[in-house]
Amino acid sequence: DPPILQVDHLTTRFHTRRGVVRAVDDISFAVGKGRVVGLVGESGCGKSMTALSVMGLVPSPPGTVESRGILLNGRNLAPLSYDEMCAIRGRQIAMIFQEPMTALNPVLTVGRQVGEAIAVHQRLSRSDIRGRVVEMFDLVGIPEAASRYAAYPHQLSGGLRQRVMIAMALIAEPALLIADEPTTALDVTIQAQILDLMLDLRARLNTAIIMITHDLGVIAEVCDDVNVMYAGQIVETADVFDLFDHPLHPYTRGLLHSMPGIAADIRPERLANIRGRVPSLHQLPDGCRFHPRCDRAMDRCRRQPPGWFDCGNGHRVSCWLYSTNGQTA
Ligand code: SF4
Ligand code: MG
Repeated sequence: DPPILQVDHLTTRFHTRRGVVRAVDDISFAVGKGRVVGLVGESGCGKSMTALSVMGLVPSPPGTVESRGILLNGRNLAPLSYDEMCAIRGRQIAMIFQEPMTALNPVLTVGRQVGEAIAVHQRLSRSDIRGRVVEMFDLVGIPEAASRYAAYPHQLSGGLRQRVMIAMALIAEPALLIADEPTTALDVTIQAQILDLMLDLRARLNTAIIMITHDLGVIAEVCDDVNVMYAGQIVETADVFDLFDHPLHPYTRGLLHSMPGIAADIRPERLANIRGRVPSLHQLPDGCRFHPRCDRAMDRCRRQPPGWFDCGNGHRVSCWLYSTNGQTA
């Protein structure tokens, strides 16, 4: 099967007073039908900017997005105008964010807001829309769905608000859902429920999901495939079992070593096993961007950015340690 989404050599630049930074630098990845694909890395590594680039939501100026293609079901989104992308957003790709309160309108009932997400795309009567919304609230596990229709966002708990956001994202049955730290603001129990819900919805609706997180526990829980990001680039791609069993990139190894248990929350300040800090995008090291922090760094690493090496079974890594494996584009 061709992938739902194919991102081909995407670069997102920001023009700032201190010069041009590449928030996303030449990344490529694919999302298969019905797969859950992780983008994992520390904050500032370009995960959210990748999502905004795919959604056509990078503010321009100061941002510019370039790629050889962003193919959604074979259709290239890259050349589409803002208005053309509006028709794609919501209907074909939907996004949910970390803090649902900021994404919900405080003065409209949640039922009406979720209803608007389909009213824009489909000609349905008021009562049909209401019916669909209540059905969706039910599906995402909002108790007493019919009476919650008339609730305002502030009347709901954080967990229920996130369920409302998921209902809003999925009501138009998009082929792809992008979830940016969807559970980070929630407590552990609710977090687990929301992740279960997303997997359940994927199974029922066959929606592919891009899961953006700094938390390897979330990755282990829900992802099929993983892309590890560092300083604006993807440095390793693998299926989730390969990645956890045989991490190849020294950065990935550091991330995994700093994980006390599989369900632990990996926060940037707790990356005890990786010395040093994430570089500023204004002052990136030459060669491999990870070299100042890498215990395995060689001379070559300081001079020349590593190519991509294919280690079999779709496991690819950008690190000179694997240069005996076949190089790929
Ligand atoms: Fe370390 Fe060199 Fe690999 Fe970069 S390319 S991660 S510096 S070994
Ligand atoms: Mg982010």
